[in-house]
Amino acid sequence: MRFDILTIFPNFFTGPLDHGILSRAIATGAVEVNTHDLRAFTQDRHRTVDDRPFGGGEGMVLKAQPIFECVEALGGIDAKMDRDPSRQSVILLSAQGKRFTQATAHRLATLERVVLICGRYEGVDERVSHLLANEELSIGDYVLSGGELAAAVILDATARLLPGVLGHADSSRYESFGAGDDPADSRTADGVPRSTHGAGGLLDYPHYTRPAEFRGVAIPEVLGGGDHAAIRQWRRRMALEKTFRNRPDLLFHAALTDEDREHLATLEPEP
Ligand code: SAM
Repeated sequence: MRFDILTIFPNFFTGPLDHGILSRAIATGAVEVNTHDLRAFTQDRHRTVDDRPFGGGEGMVLKAQPIFECVEALGGIDAKMDRDPSRQSVILLSAQGKRFTQATAHRLATLERVVLICGRYEGVDERVSHLLANEELSIGDYVLSGGELAAAVILDATARLLPGVLGHADSSRYESFGAGDDPADSRTADGVPRSTHGAGGLLDYPHYTRPAEFRGVAIPEVLGGGDHAAIRQWRRRMALEKTFRNRPDLLFHAALTDEDREHLATLEPEP
């Protein structure tokens, strides 16, 4: 899968691309990432990428021309009207965009090419959204000073879903927001839910590592006992409790068993 990132700060990505899973995915060829300096596509000697807004008002606006010419120079990105959204997406990062979620990351991970356009200043000339981008994405309900952090978030969340990028294929299934198991076939032989992780749209359960006691707080007893059925049951309950406390909205769409619902019914909302 290939990402192209259009930005006025190409060096911004040196950090995010150079560490951990993303840098390994690039090294193995699972993902290709190219950053492009929009100033290289300007037409004046000052390499101007912005201009004043029509109608007056605060700040400056990123011009459409360098962005269009940069995308056209990439090669292989079809014109918007001919673009197949199951193969390519040109994405404008924008606080006004649709919310980027784990489901969006899964959809993007099936594409061959993704172009990420990073805005700056007051934003980007609307013709980019209208004529060039097939989607506007926001990473949350807050305003960043530029699209670069948002692009790095989308790149990271998507690349780790690509085949072979995570060490264990199930890691991205059994984590917060993961698809998890269908409750219909989610029981192990001992009758305890298999989906011990934050599966089926729940948040992940709490994790502990050595030492067993740290600053007076011991790990939950069940985790040291070696009873795997009990551990799975505890993890499932903790995932339910964490979701209930921190993100109760997720419970409406989570895949819940009758036992999950019974446990949820015992929980008290925080005051
Ligand atoms: N005037 C814009 C508004 O009120 O929606 C904010 C512009 S912001 C200062 C500059 C750039 O940061 C945007 O063009 C966009 O690319 C990026 N940006 C800001 N917040 C974002 C968010 N929540 N998600 C994605 N990109 C964002």
